[in-house]
Amino acid sequence: MSEYAHSVMMLLSEKAQFILCFFAVITVLAWFKAGRDALDWNDSLRRSGAVNLVIVAFNMAALVLPLAATAFLLNLLKDMPHVPGQVWQDAPWLVRAFMALLIFDLANYTMHRLSHFNAWLWPMHAVHHSDTELHFLSANRAHILEWVLLVPTGAIVAYFCGLSINDVVFLGLLREAHQYYVHSNLDWSHGPLRYVIAGPRFHRWHHVDRDDAYNKNFALFFPFIDLAFGTYYMPGPAKTLATGFVGSPGDNALKLLMFPFREWVRLVRELGAGRVGSIPPREQPGSALRPD
Ligand SMILES: [Zn+2]
Ligand SMILES: [Zn+2]
Repeated sequence: MSEYAHSVMMLLSEKAQFILCFFAVITVLAWFKAGRDALDWNDSLRRSGAVNLVIVAFNMAALVLPLAATAFLLNLLKDMPHVPGQVWQDAPWLVRAFMALLIFDLANYTMHRLSHFNAWLWPMHAVHHSDTELHFLSANRAHILEWVLLVPTGAIVAYFCGLSINDVVFLGLLREAHQYYVHSNLDWSHGPLRYVIAGPRFHRWHHVDRDDAYNKNFALFFPFIDLAFGTYYMPGPAKTLATGFVGSPGDNALKLLMFPFREWVRLVRELGAGRVGSIPPREQPGSALRPD
């Protein structure tokens, strides 16, 4: 077996262990909250879960793409002035962790919001929004090209802010665990802490396919970022509300993989026809991208 194939197998095995651990934790939590109903994986849920596993396996096999893009860009920018690492050295661990999370979340907020408002970025991010059965495995539904965009962005922001490689690993692991949690169907709001740390209800509203919910709740960890920028929205329980978007390829891994390319071809054709500023499929009232 080649070295690369061996590395992919190792990554897949670690990912599988991570998913199994989370499956156990989420199932126990859901069982405490909703009883036996929480253990019912209907056909639609099983189909969605299987597609999400196929997508994450493909992305792990193609991990060389975001990693190569990250290495290339970091090498290109290595001589640019940046915050020296020593700035963080004397800070207490908790302050350092909070600052790292905040920087990471602000960068993510920017990219995530752009992905919803830019017609060319939306087709990549739309793959994540295609899941109509939101559950913890939905965290894995992301197009590999979105990884190519987000992994270098996170690494570059961390580099320019003087964060160490340990900070980056910490952020990556925490992000992964937290993403599984916020996609789970626990419908927890976090009560008085709802502005402090994002929970499943906060993120489910981001996925709800309804006019009033579009383009809300972009933050990963800290809902107060959405509060500060006017995009916070959590009017009540969202567990029974539909997710997904019109024009989604649904639970078809191959169509999801091809979706951005198909949409880009459509956008180029529309540009050619003079219809500049084409609309992302998930259009919404008030968007600069929606035609009058
Ligand atoms: Zn989104
Ligand atoms: Zn999500």
